Amino acid sequence: MIVAIDGPAGAGKSTIARLLADRFGWTYLDTGAMYRAVTLLALEQGISLDDGEELGFLARNAEISFQPGPAGVPRVFAGCREVTESIRTPEVTSSVSEVSAHPEVRAIMVEKQRQCMDMGNAVVDGRDIGTVVCPGAELKIYLTASVAERARRRRLEVEKKGVRVSQKRMEQDIVARDDFDSNRLVAPLKAAADAVVVDTTDLDIGEVVERITEIAERVGVPG
Ligand code: C5P
Repeated sequence: MIVAIDGPAGAGKSTIARLLADRFGWTYLDTGAMYRAVTLLALEQGISLDDGEELGFLARNAEISFQPGPAGVPRVFAGCREVTESIRTPEVTSSVSEVSAHPEVRAIMVEKQRQCMDMGNAVVDGRDIGTVVCPGAELKIYLTASVAERARRRRLEVEKKGVRVSQKRMEQDIVARDDFDSNRLVAPLKAAADAVVVDTTDLDIGEVVERITEIAERVGVPG
């Protein structure tokens, strides 16, 4: 069984997906981390972000993997190098949408993501899971929240790492990334027709997990 969690940046997808996977005893797959890892490698290797062919080649050869990490947050690896932290830098964040828009990159990533899902039950978060990667998912959630709230959450997240960003700047970054992700030609960010939309603006993490668990039980997930 697959639970797909899609939505814009900062809606809480990865936290919620991880907690749900934990609750169900399932695997959690963070597809954004996979695009981020390819972006990190591209930046390090000086590959032009508009060279779809070269980026596709890089994506095919990138050995991206996950291992269980502290507090349930998966550790991310590119080959045998851990990249958990380095894929979350502002440089990677501001380039990842450009890299992910290339059809050559997406084709490979979708293939790799489907291989991961073949291994069993999973909660998968991303932008195109319910629409493209796994249109047959047993449950599709589209998680969203107001721009101000999403920016506030992201700001608190980066502040914990010692980076100060103004609320306004964070809102601009989030809107720019959502625009890019929503308007690309291949697999744009959008809710699947059969997704349940959950607005988390006024909900805390525990409330969102409860709400989605109730929805899941109604459709017989985990089964
Ligand atoms: O989820 P996260 O913010 O880490 O995703 C980073 C970026 O990766 C997104 O802004 C989007 O450009 C890309 N992405 C994607 N498709 C997915 C997951 C992420 O295009 N399934």
